[in-house]
Amino acid sequence: MKIYNTLTRKKEDFVPIEEGKVRMYVCGPTVYNLIHIGNARPMIVFDTFRRYMTYKGYDVNYVSNFTDVDDKIIAKANEEGVSSEEISERYIAECRKDMADMNVMPATTHPQATKEIGGMIKLIRKLEEDGYAYNVDGTVYFRTRRDEQYGKLSHKNLDDLRSGNRELKVTGEEQKEDPLDFVLWKPKKEGEPFWNSPWGQGRPGWHTECSVMAKKYLGDTIDIHAGGEDLIFPHHENEIAQSECANGVIFANYWMHNGFLRIDNEKMSKSLGNFKTVREIGQIYDLQVLRLFMLSAHYRSPVNFSAEIMESSANALERIRTAVSSLNYNIQHASGELTEAEQARLEEIKAFRSQFETAMEDDLNTADALSAVFELVKFANVEGKETASPAFLQALKDEIVTLCGILGLIVDVQEEELDEEIEKLIAERQAARKAKDFARADEIRDELLARGIELKDTREGVKWKRV
Ligand code: AMP
Ligand code: ZN
Repeated sequence: MKIYNTLTRKKEDFVPIEEGKVRMYVCGPTVYNLIHIGNARPMIVFDTFRRYMTYKGYDVNYVSNFTDVDDKIIAKANEEGVSSEEISERYIAECRKDMADMNVMPATTHPQATKEIGGMIKLIRKLEEDGYAYNVDGTVYFRTRRDEQYGKLSHKNLDDLRSGNRELKVTGEEQKEDPLDFVLWKPKKEGEPFWNSPWGQGRPGWHTECSVMAKKYLGDTIDIHAGGEDLIFPHHENEIAQSECANGVIFANYWMHNGFLRIDNEKMSKSLGNFKTVREIGQIYDLQVLRLFMLSAHYRSPVNFSAEIMESSANALERIRTAVSSLNYNIQHASGELTEAEQARLEEIKAFRSQFETAMEDDLNTADALSAVFELVKFANVEGKETASPAFLQALKDEIVTLCGILGLIVDVQEEELDEEIEKLIAERQAARKAKDFARADEIRDELLARGIELKDTREGVKWKRV
């Protein structure tokens, strides 16, 4: 697969560190509010990348953090008169709910900054010992001039940046040796959360958490580091500086960055009044529509969100779902064996899968992959008649559901609803068993069996299958 690497500014073949494995880290949200649809873009895009790599047979270790100590969280906590922890825990729970509604899989690990402070102190100590960091009155800075490679990710002209940042130094950060030096540890202020450290009580800077969590959960060198393009500088540049100076090895082999989402061709911001949360969109649309909209563009291109584009995405999703639902109907009503002519037709559908894969192999071109899905849907609408054999219809349906599944799109709605109902009955049966109402528990088991669902009580809980 080819991946555009921000580090080299080239599309490169993906070669994993360890065969068959992908270790990736995606910068997650700062949790002080409901996530907005801009935050949803990296979630959807990199979840799709993860799903595709899993489909290809990779074992993907996917780590994505929650930044739960930050000025904005503290400000919100003070506004509400509650603790920072209460704010961050609340919005982590809300974020997880939005992720589930967008069919974004939970990460293998979702570390939280506040639970990794010990590791951060250790990293800063190491940098200090090796001369990469210095302490001025309880604030520890990273010494960017010591890092010869500083700037390699963002390809910025550091001298320009330094002169541009001179004013910054005058207005409050005059202790810095260099305007590009950044904070690793800052002293506590009244009313803020703090931890004890060799430099006094305080809290870590934002960049430090990702370096520490990536190393802890994935190792010194990881395959892929990802996030929105606004993070390239300074966040990711600083992560590289910290990690590579401390560990002495390359931090991440590939850097992937998604483009920005705009609304009605403007930047999304509270002051413009065009700020939209995922939750708000979820009240109008099935969030699968949002997912399809995000995947309709290449992840590195800017995308524009508008009411019209959501309408057309809703129609597009409906087109796929209608095709699947009519296949479901025809499967129920069709009869007969797979014919030779149908067998030949099934060979033809392989072309859609290969078109889909070619697009995904080319730096995750989900826009072209979706075109392959729509061509397959068109094919299914023509070929998937009631007069066809059930096996042929099932094969068509399976192909649509599989390709959409790689994109994380749920298109077999009937199945989903059925699944939910089954889960509910299983939960009811568990409750009945707990209450020693074995008659009701058996009744539910029989009811499900009559509907073609067999339950199995295993050590990992209740499993079910269609029989
Ligand atoms: P934040 O909570 O601001 O740290 O952002 C979390 C993630 O969302 C980061 O990867 C950001 O780059 C990304 N992000 C924030 N705003 C947008 C936007 N408008 N479009 C695309 N990605 C965004
Ligand atoms: Zn990060």
